[in-house]
Amino acid sequence: MEKVETVSNMRALAARLRTRRGGLSLVPTMGALHAGHEALIGAAVSAGGPVVVSIFVNPLSFGSNENFGGYPRSLDADLATCARLGVSAAFVPSIEEIYPRGFSTYVTEEHVSKPLCGISRPTHFRGVATLVAKLLNIVGPDRLYLGQKDAQHVAVLRKLAADLNYNVEVVVEPTVREADGLAAGVRNRDLTQGQKQDALAISKALKRVEQMVDAGVLSSDRLVAEATHIMGQHRRIRVIYVSVVDPATMEPVREVVPGRTLICVAAWLDEVRLTDNAVL
Ligand code: AMP
Repeated sequence: MEKVETVSNMRALAARLRTRRGGLSLVPTMGALHAGHEALIGAAVSAGGPVVVSIFVNPLSFGSNENFGGYPRSLDADLATCARLGVSAAFVPSIEEIYPRGFSTYVTEEHVSKPLCGISRPTHFRGVATLVAKLLNIVGPDRLYLGQKDAQHVAVLRKLAADLNYNVEVVVEPTVREADGLAAGVRNRDLTQGQKQDALAISKALKRVEQMVDAGVLSSDRLVAEATHIMGQHRRIRVIYVSVVDPATMEPVREVVPGRTLICVAAWLDEVRLTDNAVL
């Protein structure tokens, strides 16, 4: 596996990788790789062509009140993981390489990125869209791999690809969960036993809502109320939002259309912000 640190070297290597059979896949990450990332990378490798994994903690996706410096980093372990999984190249640029002095062009999706996390993190999706647009331009992949765990990112980046005519297939892989149901995430390993117990209320609430839908309850109001009630019983949890939405637009819907509706949740668990969702 090649470790690539500059845009020009990545462009050159990507041009060579694109001549191989099977199509080139890109898996963007912020590193600190866990089981969720591994499944995503594994799926990209299984697709057959070469795979580029980018590892870049994107300063633009952090608000001024968010702890960019405190984001977990484990580059050596991440590179070993990528090599083990059969990745062709890990793109690990510096901040200056991606955002050189004087950088002043941003990509803003103006609809799908507004609700849900867009309310409490108003500059986040601009940061994500700007970085992913740059990565698509640098790597030129045939496939872009994203996790369902970040459903609003998926919706925003699908819109970005369509609106800006990127010739890329967006492939979405299911959320990987720990045995107890908690969605795999970078913060999980830092949680105390007590915090973990409370965090489980999020996946339990989603499971309960899925059961209600299976039993024929389609009213979004009732589903949101139930999920909020379950999470509200845990003292460390502060719900930021619970919303039943259309997965393409992220707009709230009044009733679930089975198979074509999402329930999205964000909550503070003490100082840790957690998000999760379920396809209903
Ligand atoms: P991040 O490193 O948080 O930027 O995530 C990189 C990619 O991994 C994104 O497409 C995420 O949606 C995906 N991802 C993160 N956690 C999970 C998970 N638990 N299951 C599946 N994919 C995930």
